[in-house]
Amino acid sequence: KNGVVIVGAGHAGVQAAASLREEGYDGPVILVSDENELPYHKPPLSKTFIKDQEAKPQPLRGEAFYTGSSIDYRPGIEVESIDAAGQRLEISGGGALPFERLILATGSRPRMPPLPGADLSGVVSLRSLADARLIRELGAQSEDVVILGGGFIGLEIAATLKAAGRKVTVVEAVDRLLGRAVAPVIASHVRQRLEAAGVRILTGTTIARLEGESGRVSAAVTSSGERLPAQMVIIGIGVVPNVELAQAAGIAIANGIRVDPQMQSSLPEILAIGDAASYRHWLTGSDVRLESVQNATDQARLAARTVLGHADAFAAVPWFWSDIGDMKLQMVGLTSGGDSHVVLGDLGENRFSIYHYAGNRLLGIESVNRPGDHMLGRKMLGAGFSPTPQSVAEGPDGLKAALA
Ligand code: FAD
Repeated sequence: KNGVVIVGAGHAGVQAAASLREEGYDGPVILVSDENELPYHKPPLSKTFIKDQEAKPQPLRGEAFYTGSSIDYRPGIEVESIDAAGQRLEISGGGALPFERLILATGSRPRMPPLPGADLSGVVSLRSLADARLIRELGAQSEDVVILGGGFIGLEIAATLKAAGRKVTVVEAVDRLLGRAVAPVIASHVRQRLEAAGVRILTGTTIARLEGESGRVSAAVTSSGERLPAQMVIIGIGVVPNVELAQAAGIAIANGIRVDPQMQSSLPEILAIGDAASYRHWLTGSDVRLESVQNATDQARLAARTVLGHADAFAAVPWFWSDIGDMKLQMVGLTSGGDSHVVLGDLGENRFSIYHYAGNRLLGIESVNRPGDHMLGRKMLGAGFSPTPQSVAEGPDGLKAALA
């Protein structure tokens, strides 16, 4: 029996391996990673790891997990192609790996802009532990850091490096921060607090080119002609899904490897999960590709059940968090398409939540330092319970009672 091969040992791949065993799968499980690490948590990289020279990576599972669960973890191997008809993979170094079921958990990679000077040393992006080690090392030698992109990763890094004493400038092309992800009131709150902490933020601005000295970056020149000194430039303008492997094997792609509610690709013996997978969301009916730990782990659990012959449909409530300086942002649900909202709490106290509605239907909640609303939101959306905007405005106690 050839068993299950999982490509990629990030949040999705490792959870898939664990869930296969938890669900009772007793065939071989091979987990292949092109990284040479014990699989690790990504979120701490931008929040704590890069400012603390002593910080250690946080493993997703201890080493004993892999041996103890008979998971054949193979680091440092890149899967180069899929022979779907022959049910085998070609791997770096020239070998082949046969499979019965294949789970693609290849994640995503930073999007790189066509930017003159982007090949200078000191121009980096943050995805892997290796990237984080480099940023930590360069950060220690840099007084001025320029970050291209005002999304979650860029702003987390900005807050972290500012707290470590660097001069930080964030350059964002559109006229607001966190453009794709949160309500304008949250975006402007985040901006205000970051600026108060000393981060310089330029919106409606791009970087036209990077300048260097002896091959090292020394400045970023903005679209308005300002020259920003920089010994490190971090590119954080979003990611692209790693779909090339699937695409070359003839698997359908639509902003990600297209999967059905059981996580099966257009070739049902091949599944895809995590940042690399796109699907029609049960909650909104729209096509999505979500980039979150929750999405990766919940899809992994479901994929394991599919391999074992169950036919559950993906119905997890989406949630996400981001720590930007002293702001714990938590999002639950999918809030785009909302037409009204209710605010609870106090912006001045840096503690508030926004309940988003489409008509009378609760779409989701965005919170800043109000974890109780977030947890309540996960419960309400999970139970299909939509409180009226009026009852939300009366505060969370009544909602808790209604749920109980
Ligand atoms: P990944 O974790 O990217 O794993 C994919 C793995 O597959 C990688 O190791 C890759 O190298 C490997 N791979 C790809 N192709 C091949 C191949 N051909 N052969 C072998 N191996 C291959 N999410 C949150 O919810 N909250 C947060 O606060 C948060 N913070 C983040 C901070 C940072 C710095 C980063 C980078 C991400 C953060 N995320 C956060 C997003 C979250 O980490 C991702 O959504 C999650 O990692 C997706 O899991 P994945 O397994 O799909 O992909």
